[in-house]
Amino acid sequence: MAPRDDANSGTAPSVRPRALRFAGVGLFAWLTARRELERQLGRHARQHEAVARLGQIALREHDLRRLIDEVVETVARVLDIHLCGVLKLREGEERLDMISSVGYHEVPDGSLPGGTGTQAGYALLRREPVIAHDLRRETRFDPAPLLEQGMVSGMNAVIEAHDGPFGVLTAHTSRRRRFSTDDVNFLVAVANVLSAAVERQRKELATKHAALHDPLTGLANRTLVLDRVDLALARRLREGVDVALLMLDLDRFKLINDSLGHAAGDEVLVALASRLREAVRSSDTVARLSGDEFVLVCERSGGVRRVVELAERLGAAIGRPLILSSGEHFLTASIGIALAETKADTAASMLRDADAAMYRAKHRGPGRYELFDGTVRDQVLTRLRTEAELRHAIERGELCVHYQPIVDATSGRPVATEALVRWEHPTHGLIPPLDFIPIAEETGLIIELGRYVLERACAQAAEWQRRFDVPLQMFVNASGCQIAHPLFPAEVADIAIRSGLRPRTLGIEVTESVLIEETGSSMGVIGELHAHGLRLILDDFGTGYSSLSYLRRFPLDAVKVDRSFVDGLGSCSQDAAIMKSIVEMCHALGLSVVAEGVESEQQRRQLRRLGCEHIQGYLVSRALPVDEAGAFLQSGFAGGCEAVEPGAAGHADASLVLRPSA
Ligand code: C2E
Ligand code: CA
Ligand code: CA
Repeated sequence: MAPRDDANSGTAPSVRPRALRFAGVGLFAWLTARRELERQLGRHARQHEAVARLGQIALREHDLRRLIDEVVETVARVLDIHLCGVLKLREGEERLDMISSVGYHEVPDGSLPGGTGTQAGYALLRREPVIAHDLRRETRFDPAPLLEQGMVSGMNAVIEAHDGPFGVLTAHTSRRRRFSTDDVNFLVAVANVLSAAVERQRKELATKHAALHDPLTGLANRTLVLDRVDLALARRLREGVDVALLMLDLDRFKLINDSLGHAAGDEVLVALASRLREAVRSSDTVARLSGDEFVLVCERSGGVRRVVELAERLGAAIGRPLILSSGEHFLTASIGIALAETKADTAASMLRDADAAMYRAKHRGPGRYELFDGTVRDQVLTRLRTEAELRHAIERGELCVHYQPIVDATSGRPVATEALVRWEHPTHGLIPPLDFIPIAEETGLIIELGRYVLERACAQAAEWQRRFDVPLQMFVNASGCQIAHPLFPAEVADIAIRSGLRPRTLGIEVTESVLIEETGSSMGVIGELHAHGLRLILDDFGTGYSSLSYLRRFPLDAVKVDRSFVDGLGSCSQDAAIMKSIVEMCHALGLSVVAEGVESEQQRRQLRRLGCEHIQGYLVSRALPVDEAGAFLQSGFAGGCEAVEPGAAGHADASLVLRPSA
């Protein structure tokens, strides 16, 4: 950047040529010139040295402020001037903040005007150094403010940054002075040192920001929020302030992602992030942990009541219709609240407590909040204990499989059995699956457990098929995490083949929610299961979204209508109407229908009238231990079959077993 050379600017006269050009000058003149030359060389060396030293400080000093202090002090000393300052341009304003200075009398509110009428503003406009040898004759800008400070000469150099100027480095003196080229170059070199340091600081801040924030929403990430909680907990111990942590999880967010795509999902998350930020105080931290999980940290939360009010306010903020390019969304979130209570609280324990409370809230339905309390803590402990015991249960063979028959609604002949796992706990007795399957799912133990049930069930079905010489089917339940596994179909097919099961007699039961939650990955898995000759049964139909599109989208073989619809048969005409339309719809799609939870003869008769061909429930039999199930099947095949359905030899073709009856 070349220094400007105006009437009032320009470089200082060079001494060497004038002193030596003329031969015959007097010795005095020669000595004067020589002394001046030496002074100049000395100044030049000092300037060089100062720039090098500042460069070194810039390398090791990560605090920009301290480097700037060093710069103003050095420039004032090396140039031997009265005023030196680093002025930082305020974003979007014609004002300059005085970051550090030497010699200024007073700067009201620490800033100076930075318009183009000032020397600094003029330098910023030109983006080059501006030298004023005599401010009293200055015409390019208004020198009055500097003259008021008693200054006569001065220069400004611009401190550049990556996206425009950072500010200016100023140097002024109350003596009239012609600044030399060396002086100007020195100031510019120091400004460049500052530019490099500013740029490095910007990069460091950007890297730090990226490491601690979520790139999508700009909210704090897990690392940062854990750190903030730790700091808040430390302050709580010192100053006794309250600390609350709220964990938020959107309800049914997957549905948006799956049906409208990830871009729409992202749009929702970004909009939600700003709503959360608006709903809390600026001192609170809002973070996104992952997916649709957010955390809020409130210091000085004001106790339980205030936090509950906050949870309600957040619920309301989230619930306001969200109008985006992807459409109008109505969201709810489940919120878990944890309050710091004991000295032992840590960020991790608070996060865990809020998470546990959030789960409980979710269980109660969408849009609820829960406070972590003793009950939740007990539940968490029981859960942790159960989890540990469940691991051993699999190793120690405490799991067993019971079988519940599924029969033809007309003939009563068994067509299939459903494998239902049981846990024979050494001290607590028989534990029902709903008490441990969810834990197995959360911990991943379901994979091992599921494999065990499949192996047992397939071996048992093969044995019964041989014993009774019928293609009796076996239905096994599968959880979402099993279905989500890409190797699941191959593994199931392998187990089925190794067990000696007849082809096409193994059915996998999945719930609607599994199809909804996992559509992305499960679509392929479901297709593969089908391709391997396995049957697919949609379980608990009617409890979820009961969406027709799922019936069409997946290659299903049968639908199990949930017990809740069977319950009302005979007493509630609406249930009968619903059941009728489900049966008709399934038949139209070529799917057979099984009614679950059939407990009375009246229900069975009505189901038969409505065209439902298979039933399962306590009316027929409970889930039975293997020997009792064998005995049930034996009597079923011996009796029901010939009496009601003489043509039942057709069961040799397994594919006909679960087809709608003509
Ligand atoms: P599900 O698949 O819907 O199984 C039917 C449940 O209803 C069984 O409960 C069964 O005993 C019960 N049930 C059958 N008939 C009647 C009836 O007439 N009235 C009433 N009130 N209930 C009846 P269970 O065995 O306690 O199983 C509960 C759930 O646990 C099952 O629901 C299934 O989702 C899950 N489950 C069981 N075994 C496994 C397994 O091996 N793997 C997986 N992933 N889940 C399993
Ligand atoms: Ca089932
Ligand atoms: Ca079911």
